[in-house]
Amino acid sequence: MKSEAVLAVVSGFAGSGKGSVMKGLMKKYPDHYFLSVSKTTRSPRPGEEEGREYFFVTDREFEEDIEKDALLEYAGYVGHYYGTPKAPVEGALSEGKNVLLEIEIQGALKVKEKYPEAVLLFLSPPSAEELKERLTGRGTEDAATIKKRLKRASEESLGIEKYDYLVINDSLEECIEEVHEILLAERRKTKRQTERIRELVNGMKVFAEGEETE
Ligand code: 5GP
Repeated sequence: MKSEAVLAVVSGFAGSGKGSVMKGLMKKYPDHYFLSVSKTTRSPRPGEEEGREYFFVTDREFEEDIEKDALLEYAGYVGHYYGTPKAPVEGALSEGKNVLLEIEIQGALKVKEKYPEAVLLFLSPPSAEELKERLTGRGTEDAATIKKRLKRASEESLGIEKYDYLVINDSLEECIEEVHEILLAERRKTKRQTERIRELVNGMKVFAEGEETE
């Protein structure tokens, strides 16, 4: 591995379009990224597939994972458990792939505590109004759930400054590129390239002796 893979945590209000950004990144740059699939105790929404959006599990199964320490982090969100399976994330990082965790704020902060080198990005629509429109227009949740999610969004907005980056999702394509560029730049940080630096330094040693160039 020439440079260390980035553990990227992406959060955003429900309706921020973060799911589409993650899918877009995977489609455009499949060799760069591994998208973690979480476990949840909520029911599947129409169109969601087991193992693609989530692994849908019972409370009991989720609690067993907690006991076995099989989750990298987990949190409660609007009445359900959500958690990141640990083994696939560690596997992908060791293969040099950047890992994307699309999780909410409590989980994001737990990841930062455990892995201080993780990069935290927060995605937001341009305004509160736009957020409400997107969430209502999606048509996948009833009015009570939308209300709970908007309330949660208002709470989450207070935590944005704990993130490393805030990216506005106005145009999906531009947002995908912006997130990709941020993660490319993160990967260029010298602290993630210690092995390459060591190789360069070793390769340069011969010049220290004042080696002839001709
Ligand atoms: P949704 O029900 O809309 O799919 O997800 C609700 C929230 O849970 C979103 O903010 C999503 O990012 C978050 N979430 C999804 N998976 C995980 C996870 O594994 N851990 C945590 N902490 N949050 C998650």
